[in-house]
Amino acid sequence: AKAAGRRTYRFFEPDMEEEVRARRDLEMDLRRALVDGGFEVYYQPCLSLQTNAITGCEALVRWRHPQRGMISPAEFVPLAEDTGLINQLGEWVLTTACKEAATWPGPVRLAVNVSPIQFRSGTLALKVMAALAASGLAASRLELEITEAVLIRDDEAALAVLHDLRAIGVRIALDDFGTGYSSLSYLQRFPFDKIKIDRCFITDIAEPEGSSCIVEAVVNIAAERHMTTTAEGVETEPQRDLLRELGCSEMQGYLFSAPKPAAEIRPMLLADRQG
Ligand code: C2E
Ligand code: CA
Ligand code: CA
Ligand code: CA
Repeated sequence: AKAAGRRTYRFFEPDMEEEVRARRDLEMDLRRALVDGGFEVYYQPCLSLQTNAITGCEALVRWRHPQRGMISPAEFVPLAEDTGLINQLGEWVLTTACKEAATWPGPVRLAVNVSPIQFRSGTLALKVMAALAASGLAASRLELEITEAVLIRDDEAALAVLHDLRAIGVRIALDDFGTGYSSLSYLQRFPFDKIKIDRCFITDIAEPEGSSCIVEAVVNIAAERHMTTTAEGVETEPQRDLLRELGCSEMQGYLFSAPKPAAEIRPMLLADRQG
């Protein structure tokens, strides 16, 4: 029994070591990429369900790893958060995306994701002001996407940050609505400009026993509180048609466009203005 136990131990140990090493390697690669410029920002258009016009684009970071190719933010954003590197990465995304958006036709807005770590850093408002100043982008064209996670702890401090951002003139969207502890009460405590309804409610919205009731409820509450709603991850026409019927304001998803590099987005925005 003893021998077997030892064997089991030996069997698992190198595995864990390898995992720790892989993580450390990836962290080092992440640090290097921040210096060498291994990141890129992609943009995904957001459309009005009423007019079909493009109202804005969401900035989504991409990492072109020298050996591993494109790595998804779902993989490296959590690591960047654990290591604190998200502050630097987030600032780079914000600055880069604001510069790009300053070249877009007038009313098209830019949405940027803000990690809870950045939100609690104490310097977010300053970074936002700096990015706006450096790019010349009007504050009213920038929208920051935050998640419920920032509101769970530190209520007073979180509200203070939100009010600071609001004072700058940027818009604030509640991202991934419905996935966390959600919490219609958050909507009462702070007047967001927009609620982004998570993809998990959109996926089955057009199914017989799907989430259309939930989406309808969120859309109605939002309207009552003068917030707009964006449906995330819209992939089919039936989903889009139902969302329009329910009174949802905007949609984002592969049905219209996946996230694309800046060079492909700009012509799309210019064509949309003319069409
Ligand atoms: P998110 O903010 O909820 O972004 C939406 C994600 O859904 C994006 O994944 C987008 O590519 C994907 N998506 C869009 N339309 C569809 C669709 O029709 N179907 C499906 N299946 N997926 C769709 P992505 O780009 O891989 O980003 C994943 C997450 O990583 C984001 O989720 C966000 O939480 C985080 N992230 C991305 N960029 C940044 C960033 O610059 N800063 C921070 N803090 N987080 C970021
Ligand atoms: Ca988002
Ligand atoms: Ca989202
Ligand atoms: Ca999401």
